[in-house]
Amino acid sequence: MTYQQKEKIKQMRGEGISYSKIAATLGISENTVKSFCRRNNLGGVGMGIANQADDAFCRQCGALLTHTPSAKKKRFCSDQCRMAWWNAHPEAVNRKAIYSFICANCGTAFESYGNKNRKYCSRACYGKSKAVRYE
Ligand SMILES: [Zn+2]
Ligand SMILES: [Zn+2]
Repeated sequence: MTYQQKEKIKQMRGEGISYSKIAATLGISENTVKSFCRRNNLGGVGMGIANQADDAFCRQCGALLTHTPSAKKKRFCSDQCRMAWWNAHPEAVNRKAIYSFICANCGTAFESYGNKNRKYCSRACYGKSKAVRYE
């Protein structure tokens, strides 16, 4: 195998692509891919690295991640990779947008996570605004 092929295998395994697909893409035998992955700890699903191939590698650089069972699952090996990935995927950020508002009652600036229809910073302000309207 060439250096490029090896790198390609690592990258594709990082994306959760199957051995047979990788073999077909690179024009080498599936067994070659398998044994290379086994030697390099790129086994993936069912081989004790992680349940989901998705979670096994840093999304940005493809480095193998070590998960602490009790901790929240990591997707990146470092903060640098996290920043780089989010910078490269602005559309993924927008899906969970944080909206900024000025409270219609008290004028406080506040942020709402995933809800773009808020007018008030708190229930108290919401209540007050109603009281004012019906006075
Ligand atoms: Zn990384
Ligand atoms: Zn308010």
